[in-house]
Amino acid sequence: QPEHSEVTTCAYCGVGCSFKAEMRGEELVRMVPWKDGKANRGHSCVKGRFAWGYATHKDRILNPMIREKISDPWREVSWDEAFAHVASEFRRIQYQYGRESIGGITSSRCTNEETYLVQKLIRSGFGNNNVDTCARVCHSPTGYGLGQAFGTSAGTQDFDSVEDSDVVIVIGANPTEGHPVFGSRLKKRLRQGAKLIVIDPRKTEIVSSPHIKASYHLPLKPGTNVAVMTALAHVIVTEGLYDEAFIRERCDWSEFQDWAEFVAAEQHSPEAIQALTGVDPDAIRGAARLYATGGNGAIYYGLGVTEHSQGSTTVMAIANLAMATGNIGRRGVGVNPLRGQNNVQGSCDMGSFPHELPGYRHISDDATRAIFEKLWGVELNKEPGLRIPNMLDAAVDGSFKGIYIQGEDILQSDPDTKHVAAGLAAMECVVVQDLFLNETANYAHVFLPGSTFLEKDGTFTNAERRINRVRRVMSPKNGLADWEVTQKLAQAMGLNWAYSHPSQVMDEIAATTPSFAGVNYDYLEKMGSVQWPCNEKAPEGSPIMHVNGFVRGKGKFIRTEYVATDEKTGPRFPLLLTTGRVLSQYNVGAQTRRTGNTAWHPEDRLEIHPHDAENRGIRDGDWVRLASRAGETSLRALVTEKVAPGVVYTTFHHPDTQANVITTDFSDWATNCPEYKVTAVQVSPSNGP
Ligand code: SF4
Repeated sequence: QPEHSEVTTCAYCGVGCSFKAEMRGEELVRMVPWKDGKANRGHSCVKGRFAWGYATHKDRILNPMIREKISDPWREVSWDEAFAHVASEFRRIQYQYGRESIGGITSSRCTNEETYLVQKLIRSGFGNNNVDTCARVCHSPTGYGLGQAFGTSAGTQDFDSVEDSDVVIVIGANPTEGHPVFGSRLKKRLRQGAKLIVIDPRKTEIVSSPHIKASYHLPLKPGTNVAVMTALAHVIVTEGLYDEAFIRERCDWSEFQDWAEFVAAEQHSPEAIQALTGVDPDAIRGAARLYATGGNGAIYYGLGVTEHSQGSTTVMAIANLAMATGNIGRRGVGVNPLRGQNNVQGSCDMGSFPHELPGYRHISDDATRAIFEKLWGVELNKEPGLRIPNMLDAAVDGSFKGIYIQGEDILQSDPDTKHVAAGLAAMECVVVQDLFLNETANYAHVFLPGSTFLEKDGTFTNAERRINRVRRVMSPKNGLADWEVTQKLAQAMGLNWAYSHPSQVMDEIAATTPSFAGVNYDYLEKMGSVQWPCNEKAPEGSPIMHVNGFVRGKGKFIRTEYVATDEKTGPRFPLLLTTGRVLSQYNVGAQTRRTGNTAWHPEDRLEIHPHDAENRGIRDGDWVRLASRAGETSLRALVTEKVAPGVVYTTFHHPDTQANVITTDFSDWATNCPEYKVTAVQVSPSNGP
């Protein structure tokens, strides 16, 4: 029987469910969904509820380790020796190759406080802005696109808002599998009568599930999001379905007119794009009319929007549609990115991008830099630093030599695995801080053991900007919480940090970041959680954004020209591969594969349409070879009509699948977010791996 409990936050997806961790001494007995959790109201999914056994898994590394060369065996060392070694190596590298020759990566799995400290270490200790986050490979286009259109890079609504939606567009997202607790809430509203439009190459569960049938499913060819979104806008503009009063009041009318002229061109009509997208023009016309005239219209989107060469363009096209129809600034409407990781919103908020300080303020802004310079006692570099792909390019070129990676497995999760490996292999000091010896650690010179969410205090910020407390329920098995590891590394590098608790880090965030000005641990204790902005103007937080005006002033309409990806099908690679997730597993599976959840999804499979399978002599369950221009792998086939002819699909939870050996190095034009969702491939029978 449990002896005591603490309320904490799930460390998997961006829904941010609250749980009671029921403990017997230092042993976790069970995780019980907390009925007062504002994001989940007592609900949960099989990950948060059951997949926590990785915290005590035998594979965890609990002692720091060093090796001179990556071919050497690991040598266990004391924490002090590890910190001294890293500090001396980083200083040697900077002395030898220059200040810009090292950098670091923050983690969307770690707390806000930990992320803030890593970017602070890099900016104030390394003296450069070579900091990036794993959001680079998922929602960086959200940051860019919503920043351009609305002035801030965050979802506009709270989850409760969907209860007032009359029409919901789900584009490039599969909430049933990826964001299950929100998915259930959405389905409840749909069962009550709200209409659904799904824009997705695949027939996801929500398209047709018990008691729910989408009014429109637009099964577009992967890579054509912008063309479809612009065609929806074409119908709204040419049929006069836009909200003129809203646009005149909240946006720049002449910018709208310019955009309207652009989308009204015949080349953007549903009929003109049919051959390109494969979508029935009548379905596009019907969906556009439903969204524009059906009452409160909300848009929810996921990585099927962002992980494209036009990811940022699609985000801006979504924003255009919401502004043109007046669907922003009140309950039931809005533009809502479904964030993947537990703290991807927070890692972006905390200044993890090479061009932004906490609170999305550009590093070149003198006034913002002055705030941090005064507090940190250093002069900050005003030039943006390197993004992850640029760090790897520079490593291959010989100018980037050292990296500190907290809680991120870039070898498995970033595109073009061979290039990532080449970049890491070219560095002289790779420091990995993680729970397990992940794939990236194969190239590390120093391994610093990480701590789980059960072993530390802090906060996560979920997809609705809700800042939730994470509470320590057991001692760190490795001796130090992640924030303490970063602090000790900073101290070894000569910085005079002296935080005694993460609450002090949050106080510093609040003192420097206007949208967090009213946030502190006492207030979170009292409120349970709050949604930023939380400050003098909004003391109880902000469930809905852009209520009376956009953060940037006037909402900005932006022309969104469709540009085809450079990844083309052809005789050698005639099919298009796209990727996604299942409910029971999480991303590259480092945690969920070390729990009983593996029984629900023991392997990744390749979904292929019956026609494509038959043409290739492939039967359900057969091993197949999946090859692209970048590489090849083997997995078993799942013959299904969920995918259209010409499209294949797989999950990427198991390292054997090596999905990123297949994917290309094309990326979003604005943010370098990799184009994971479109790869030209060939599938052929095989005898297995
Ligand atoms: Fe909630 Fe997401 Fe955790 Fe599932 S994985 S319990 S939906 S936060």
